[in-house]
Amino acid sequence: MTVLSVGGAAATLRQAQRAAAPWPYAELDPERLRAAGWRPTPIRDLILKIHQRCNLACDYCYVYESTDQTWRDRPAVMADEIWQAAVDNLARHATTHGLRRVQVILHGGEPLLFRLDRIERLVGHLRARMPEGTETRVGMQTNGVLLTRPVVSRLVDLRIAVGVSVDGTAEDHDRHRRTHAGRGSFAAVARALDLLREPANRPAYAGILTTVSPDTDPVRTFETLSAFEPPMIDFLLPHANWGEPPTHARPGATPYADWLIAVFDRWYGRSEPVRIRLFDDILALLLGGASGSEQVGLSPAGMLVVESDGALEQVDALKSAYPGAAATGLDVRRDELDAVFDDAGVAARQLGPQALSGACLSCPVVRVCGGGHYAHRYRPGEGFLNPSVYCDDMRRLIDHVSARVAADLQRAAASEKR
Ligand code: SF4
Repeated sequence: MTVLSVGGAAATLRQAQRAAAPWPYAELDPERLRAAGWRPTPIRDLILKIHQRCNLACDYCYVYESTDQTWRDRPAVMADEIWQAAVDNLARHATTHGLRRVQVILHGGEPLLFRLDRIERLVGHLRARMPEGTETRVGMQTNGVLLTRPVVSRLVDLRIAVGVSVDGTAEDHDRHRRTHAGRGSFAAVARALDLLREPANRPAYAGILTTVSPDTDPVRTFETLSAFEPPMIDFLLPHANWGEPPTHARPGATPYADWLIAVFDRWYGRSEPVRIRLFDDILALLLGGASGSEQVGLSPAGMLVVESDGALEQVDALKSAYPGAAATGLDVRRDELDAVFDDAGVAARQLGPQALSGACLSCPVVRVCGGGHYAHRYRPGEGFLNPSVYCDDMRRLIDHVSARVAADLQRAAASEKR
């Protein structure tokens, strides 16, 4: 690739980003922000798209079924030179910023299609290259179908923590998460989760990831997932925005909050509750702490994606906004990770309150909600300076959790006085 063609591609990308999302791409200048005191948050989490294809064909997949179809032009399998460059780049970044912890997440498509011997080489290279004093965690997000007993025990040996995507009951799961031949995948996933629950395999069990769907029974979903004894459940709102509103959105209704509240009420106050990241985060924020995810709170995002062709991108969730929304124009073989801090989109996800709309800034729950997930704020032709398209749901959920916590604190204070 010539210097000219790289420069030309970057200019075309900048133009496309400015047209699709004037805020932040036409209005935020990272150089000026730095001059005014903004300090970028280093990248601690690197997602490697080691295999671009998937052995399932889920009907709601935001990679294959969304407006962004860039996966079609990328190699199916990440070549050695790409993952080596990514690892070496992360090691330099960790040294430069004195990072005490980094995490590499093996992702796809379906990462287990990459083959275990390759994964083993990648993880070996990673642990060898990270600077002394930097704790290196390795995670994997899989659909679980290929998690057989030998695979799970190899992942335990390699100290890879696996998150599995499950939708809830067999019926609900199989409605959406089907093979290319149209067969449901719940039986295979349930077998995998039973393997991960075994005491010897628990070190490789990171948790379950589930997309909220108001046409399912929330309590049955929660009980089904809990029965697999995950260390944590991550409930995600389906990716949507003001141009592509959530499927169940109706004026005056809050179906996503209602669903989550039903789960919260079942979960809250249990003597040994399974961890639910969204609720843990909301509770921590209500009590003055910080959030560990992008769904709520104002913590700066320090996560990047390396696509199978070496492109450095923002998180996949942005692909639900418009084609190319996650692109930075950078390549992990050519550019240092620090170069992403010159991207207005990356800066916007690290700015906290400065990246919020006027409506959010005057909202009483802003410190907890944080404007919701960045991808859910997108409005075509304007960009991301908006409240979340889930604003009413977020407000109702946070008010409900807050009221339960306040009532508990009052009860505790009253019983202390007695
Ligand atoms: S509840 Fe709505 S207005 Fe309030 S911070 Fe969240 S998205 Fe913004």
